[in-house]
Amino acid sequence: MDRPTEVKPIERKVTRYVCPFCRQGRSKRSYAQEHIDQCWKNPAQRSCGSCVNFHPGSVGGYEEPGCDPYCAVGAEIHSADGDKRLVRLCPSWEPSTFVVETALRDVGWSI
Ligand SMILES: [Zn+2]
Repeated sequence: MDRPTEVKPIERKVTRYVCPFCRQGRSKRSYAQEHIDQCWKNPAQRSCGSCVNFHPGSVGGYEEPGCDPYCAVGAEIHSADGDKRLVRLCPSWEPSTFVVETALRDVGWSI
């Protein structure tokens, strides 16, 4: 019995629009812009993802219990609407230079 003819994949290049703060991609520029405007790592949102006070928590280990994410200065990290989103426009927000510098460098700004 003959082996079926091998069918080769077709190469297709696509354009993705990626958030400079968290690297999530979208298929359309407008969708990416909507995301950027709400991204928790965008410093303009003053959310935990760009704040020096945010501690992401840890999973724990053999003798370590681990912990949930928290704010080092005691601010609420969850949004008031009850879902699992992080708070935005936090009055205790302070810029995390690491996230800000990395994002700015990614979009071609010199720091
Ligand atoms: Zn993002």
